[in-house]
Amino acid sequence: MSFKLDILAIGAHPDDVELGCGATIAKEVADGKLVGILDLTQGELGTRGTPKIRAMEAEAAAGILGVMVRENLGLPDGFLENTKEYQLKIVEIIRKYQPDVVLCNAIDDRHPDHAKASKLASDACFLSGLRAIKTDIGYGDQEAWRPKSVFHYIQWKNIEPDFVVDVSDYIDVKENAIKAFKSQFYDPNSNEPESPITSKNFIDSVLYRSRDLGRLTGVEFAEGFTTERYVTVKNLSDIF
Ligand SMILES: [Zn+2]
Repeated sequence: MSFKLDILAIGAHPDDVELGCGATIAKEVADGKLVGILDLTQGELGTRGTPKIRAMEAEAAAGILGVMVRENLGLPDGFLENTKEYQLKIVEIIRKYQPDVVLCNAIDDRHPDHAKASKLASDACFLSGLRAIKTDIGYGDQEAWRPKSVFHYIQWKNIEPDFVVDVSDYIDVKENAIKAFKSQFYDPNSNEPESPITSKNFIDSVLYRSRDLGRLTGVEFAEGFTTERYVTVKNLSDIF
């Protein structure tokens, strides 16, 4: 059996979640929220590392962020598609953990898997709420469950956020969680091939973006998100 999560963060590849919303997750965990991560693929097409190394790094990063659970669906890296088969696999996970909030990939990005995973996860959140869609992971029919909110984090491209989260006290946790993926990012001692994400500039740019979103919104560091619906607040004073 499983437990209910407050937040489920979904990424096409292990490390997407850390890069896109690692600090927000660390902040929510510190606030007492139960958070889980679902990686859709093992990142087997990555220029560096192997699926086994990547899985160990993902486990280490999950520990740094303090999430309750991290699962991997084992879908094919590079060939994600928004199919019924893949939607239902994600529906099973959403119903298993019943998250109120789902965080998922950027709506548009350099890696084609990211936009595909974005739509795939978002569609699965909707479909998960339809009672007529039956799923069973070994304990009988799963209860239909639709998350209240689906937000998309920002990763490679500078997408204009609809709102930002003040993560000033958690940017170091994010950096440590990203660096847990030792095989993937800047390492002056590595003999493996270079790629756009192995430059020092890449890690720096992730932190600069948070600093710049913070500058624009009056905090030290912020992470941005987009939404498919308008954001509703109870009172104007909730916005600052
Ligand atoms: Zn990715």
